[in-house]
Amino acid sequence: MANVKDFNFAGKKAIVRVDFNVPLNEQGQITDDTRIRGALPTLKKILADGGSLILMSHMGKPKGKVKPELSLGQIVDAVSAALDVKVQFAPDCAKAADAAAALKPGEVLLLENLRYYPEEEGKPVGIDKADPAFEEAKKAMKESQKEFAKTLASYADVYVNDAFGTAHRKHASTAVVAEYFDADNKMVGLLMEKELTAVDNILTNINRPFTAIMGGSKVSTKIGIIENLMEKVDNLILCGGMTYTFMKAMGGKIGNSICEDDKLQLALDIMEKAKAKGVNLVLGEDSICGDDFSNDANTLECPANDIPDGWEGLDIGPKTQVKFAEAIKEAKTILWNGPAGVFEFDTFAVGSKAVADAVVEATKNGAFSLVGGGDSVACVNKFGYADQVSYVSTGGGALLEAIEGKVLPGVAAIKG
Ligand code: AMP
Repeated sequence: MANVKDFNFAGKKAIVRVDFNVPLNEQGQITDDTRIRGALPTLKKILADGGSLILMSHMGKPKGKVKPELSLGQIVDAVSAALDVKVQFAPDCAKAADAAAALKPGEVLLLENLRYYPEEEGKPVGIDKADPAFEEAKKAMKESQKEFAKTLASYADVYVNDAFGTAHRKHASTAVVAEYFDADNKMVGLLMEKELTAVDNILTNINRPFTAIMGGSKVSTKIGIIENLMEKVDNLILCGGMTYTFMKAMGGKIGNSICEDDKLQLALDIMEKAKAKGVNLVLGEDSICGDDFSNDANTLECPANDIPDGWEGLDIGPKTQVKFAEAIKEAKTILWNGPAGVFEFDTFAVGSKAVADAVVEATKNGAFSLVGGGDSVACVNKFGYADQVSYVSTGGGALLEAIEGKVLPGVAAIKG
């Protein structure tokens, strides 16, 4: 199978799906360029070989319409500076054939936001799923998606997908386009390769004990991954807002804490399953509660299963911090997805910081630690720990689906 490292791009035009969906402020300035920096190793390798680049990405959710505030034109200068090459811009991604044909070795063309075209996502627009004509519209859209992908493919000799963050989507630029290149001329990029290796380390190359820390707000969004991890981990720490669904399911009092009442049985099933599998399920014992969902709320420390009315659990308490740290520090493999509390408020960030401290310490002692999912990344960045864990994934949904054991369409389209 072709790969970026060994491929000689000299004289070739490479169309690269990157994830340049960077956050912008109201003035259109980039507030975090991690994603641009993440793509540089692949892009620089291609240029250094004497290839030329056609870069394609989405930005935000324009839903098939032209939205100037989501134009990739806003990041041309930043990409030029990062690559040290003056980047050209194609204001219509589906009408860039001439600009692509004119590219000389070492030159770079950035295409406008792919999602200005509904064909990119391939979902019919302006028609409800319940409409009897929906199925027909869906079929027609799939056909125009193929045409759109074929147009993109026609710009280049080689296709590279380096956008891990969208690899779980079967979009024109992430999967369908690959059908128009033979196996020797399509490959995953260096960033994607790194991400897949990190997932592989977690799934197949496990040094034990393996501790997974699942936080965030809801159990419902994490159930797939929790069930999959149950087959693999020694310790499963469940924290964040989902704690209170478990506490209520066990008959606890949770005050105003976040809770999914339709998931109480599911919580009990997870506990049963953990017992049957011999997995050490670690739940919070005490909570730091607020009398309001705000940084300025009054706080109260109390048992996680005995929270008075008018208070909601917004962070783990000191006993829980110690309990979690024990399961983290003994680990040799760690996966962390989702904060332990409402870390965005400093008042309730203490527990997540304690978790981060323990992950960093375990990493120093030789553990492999993978942190992923948007909020956990923001969390390690907040504490300045990004370079003290083994790997910080750029993928949110894609990472979770890969760890759930699902095949990512963006990877399957290339690797078969
Ligand atoms: P998720 O997207 O499911 O990973 O959830 C991340 C969000 O969960 C973050 O924005 C946290 O503020 C939030 N969160 C964590 N703990 C709690 C809690 N105890 N109550 C409410 N929200 C929480």
